[in-house]
Amino acid sequence: MSIWNPEYETMPRHRLEEIQLQRLKWTLNWVYERVDWYRKKFDSIGFKPSHLRSLEDVRNLPFTTKHDLREGYPFSLFAVPLEQVVRIHSSSGTTGKPVVVGYTRGDLNTWAELVARIATAAGVQRGDVCQISFGYGLFTGGFGLHYGLERIGATVVPVSAGQSERQIQIMKDFGSTVLVCTPSYALHLAEVAEQMEVSKEDLNLRVGMFGAEPWSEGMRKEIEDRLGLQATDNYGLTEVMGPGVAGECRERNGMHINEDHFLVEVIDPETLEPVEPGEVGELVFTTLTKEAFPVIRFRTRDLTRLIPEPCACGRTFMRMEKVRGRTDDMIIVRGVNIFPSQVEAALVEIEGVEPHFQIIVDRKAHLDELEVMVEMNEKFVTDSMKKLVQFQKEVEAKLAQKLGIRAKVTLVEPRTIERTAGKAKRVIDKRQL
Ligand code: ADP
Ligand code: ZN
Repeated sequence: MSIWNPEYETMPRHRLEEIQLQRLKWTLNWVYERVDWYRKKFDSIGFKPSHLRSLEDVRNLPFTTKHDLREGYPFSLFAVPLEQVVRIHSSSGTTGKPVVVGYTRGDLNTWAELVARIATAAGVQRGDVCQISFGYGLFTGGFGLHYGLERIGATVVPVSAGQSERQIQIMKDFGSTVLVCTPSYALHLAEVAEQMEVSKEDLNLRVGMFGAEPWSEGMRKEIEDRLGLQATDNYGLTEVMGPGVAGECRERNGMHINEDHFLVEVIDPETLEPVEPGEVGELVFTTLTKEAFPVIRFRTRDLTRLIPEPCACGRTFMRMEKVRGRTDDMIIVRGVNIFPSQVEAALVEIEGVEPHFQIIVDRKAHLDELEVMVEMNEKFVTDSMKKLVQFQKEVEAKLAQKLGIRAKVTLVEPRTIERTAGKAKRVIDKRQL
């Protein structure tokens, strides 16, 4: 399998660390000289960039949170004057006010390079017809993938998100070989294709590059079966760059992090101390080459673990496991922590339901109540009340087993849970906490 930039992507660890240290020093000087907010923060703990001796010393620096970045809205954390910023994006605002970020020409060049790497790792090559069904706009998904795929010389079809029937028509007529979107939208497209009586044999799909939201292994299998492609996961976030931070290789066992551009740490979100190698914790990133919008120890709120073992593909960059969810997506019901991805993992294993669902949490008489709206599969819909009740009980039992807590299951008609062309909204929390 080919590697886009073997010089860097297969670099020995010690050499990589030398580069990381050199780039980290550059970044610290860069923000100290150019961004008041970082200078004040460093000064407040008596830190000067020249104090940094080793990569581990990064742990002496303060964290940056999403809240901090929001405070800087819109441009006050930029490290270059606006005339050097050639592109602006902003986060989706899934969990609040969006964060606005900028890119210099150099940043855009790096971004395309890093997306070219993850796309190559996923198996995309020149000659592929890549249908980008991520939204184009302030969201980083569309444009991010666009320039990276162009960089490798693939044929890019910038459809953007939405108009699902048209998506299927284009997919069929243009013979798209690569589909780029969120996993939940991929599943929805599979559904629309089925309704249009377009089978996977009528399509020419080969590879899926999915990301921007958590998804389970079961969901991967389901999308693969229904669309006839190999589904790969990739991870990124606006604050750090966008897509291209990490992506799966053909081993599909963890996403290689582009470590020559991003320094990664995993911390315990409670104690803020580093976890033991290979343990689950919150990802923290420091950018190493970004010019317009560098971040220092940015707390992502995303939970996962790093995989220290080497990968069979030959890349030496560390892998991260699939993201389990965000700390702020985690719901605590009667003291039990639940991630939407756990519900998804349970549902894909049950025949007769679709992995489209919504979780509703409410508090009645001081007690948390958990309800999961589960969509039935067309073929399982029945008029028999007895069968329905029995089926509902089965789904409840399965969920209880996976979640470790009882949830009320409400079965709903096929295609009644709202579909989005972007990130699925899984949780409705009605509690006034
Ligand atoms: P927002 O935080 O407002 O959704 P972004 O569009 O920048 O803004 O989304 C980045 C976030 O999306 C990440 O922090 C992470 O929570 C989620 N995400 C991105 N890629 C993945 C992935 N492959 N798996 C799970 N979650 C992902
Ligand atoms: Zn690999």
